[in-house]
Amino acid sequence: MKNCVWVMLLAVVISAAAQQKDSRASESGSSQSGSAESRSHESPTVIRAGTLIDGKSDKPRHDQVIVIRGNRIESVGDAATAKIPTGANVIDLSKATILPGLIDSHTHIFLQGEDPAHGGYDANILNAPLALRAARATVAARRALEQGFTTLRDVETEGAGYGDVGIKQAIEQGYIPGPRLFVSTRAISTTGGYMLEGYAPELDMPKGAQIVDGPVEARKAAREQLDHGADWIKVYMTHRSWVGKNGELVSQPTLTVEELRAIVDETHGWGKKVACHAYGGIGLHRALDGGCDSIEHGLDLDDAAISQMLKQGTWYVPTISAYYNDWAPADTPVGQRDRLRVSLHEPSFRKALKAGVKIVFGTDMGGIPWTEPIAQEFPRMVELGMQPMDAIQSATSRAATMLDMDGKFGVVAPGALADIIAVSVDPLHDIKALENVQFVMKDGKVFKDERSHH
Ligand SMILES: [Zn+2]
Repeated sequence: MKNCVWVMLLAVVISAAAQQKDSRASESGSSQSGSAESRSHESPTVIRAGTLIDGKSDKPRHDQVIVIRGNRIESVGDAATAKIPTGANVIDLSKATILPGLIDSHTHIFLQGEDPAHGGYDANILNAPLALRAARATVAARRALEQGFTTLRDVETEGAGYGDVGIKQAIEQGYIPGPRLFVSTRAISTTGGYMLEGYAPELDMPKGAQIVDGPVEARKAAREQLDHGADWIKVYMTHRSWVGKNGELVSQPTLTVEELRAIVDETHGWGKKVACHAYGGIGLHRALDGGCDSIEHGLDLDDAAISQMLKQGTWYVPTISAYYNDWAPADTPVGQRDRLRVSLHEPSFRKALKAGVKIVFGTDMGGIPWTEPIAQEFPRMVELGMQPMDAIQSATSRAATMLDMDGKFGVVAPGALADIIAVSVDPLHDIKALENVQFVMKDGKVFKDERSHH
């Protein structure tokens, strides 16, 4: 009898959970799973755009009408001649500037700008239950979407294993709000090439990346990560850095070219790409010789590196802002290193920009607390000589091209996913306006609308 009651209770719980899941899936998933036919019966949404920066064109357009059906943009045209479909839900953004949803190509949703006073990076791995880390990552994802970032390339979980694959699924299945995620799972480095470090050698400490030695282990790690859902593979090609004898920045190299080539060869075989953390020197040149698709940070780009990046079509994700945070005191070796990094990063960025290297917007959020504005990277890029439109494209169409999603998002154009944001001040006049996104639509659904209503 007792058993029977339990079975009945269990059945009720399971069916309730199933219903809840169904309703959630239909709330957010209809656009993802609905057929083209069912979409055509949905009433369209129309956005009136005062100014449209479409993510791809070099000039903005004024007084535009964007027609959205389901999760896609159907048409974009002049308000004077465009036909508003009958029964359309009209969103009036005629006083605002409209852009494609933004893309941050270097984030860590599983980091929270760990405060050294609270144990720093190590405590995140040693003390935090994985569920706590997942809860924080859920909040980070939501913060990104609130700020108009509808897509993230998240470049490793820092010891949280394949947690990013789970967060991505939770977003796709409609359980939590968040950007479209491209995840890279555990990342790869070598023995001596990643935290946790500085503990007794007798202890087998967990590491914030998967450690490999030799091409066989390197290829196997890539296979495992790709098998478990990595969209990109992230590799650390440099680790420690310090000020050298002649005042230069020295970066400890990690993987050999042979190890990296095994990873790149495997990953390209899966039709995917490799993002390489590299500051400069030996590790940076190994990264380029080994065929990395993107260079992350690239603090110290010499002329040879820049010409090789141009020749190979390598993407550059500079993450400038991150290096202005949390400098150690100026009279310490680490403090001097922190200042040297910035003093090399700025000319590296300028040289790459001038040479025509493909620069993509990335922040290292997570290294920076998620409470700070993601868009702080835009004024950094503009201060270093990038045109505002170029900076916007680095976070829209150019990033989409790097992600092999050219035309699918990162652009307001027919056929693209309806990822659309609005700001009240034209960012071509004031790039900081992107820190104050007032309207966010992802996949044709309004997530945030803070326009003043009358
Ligand atoms: Zn990073």
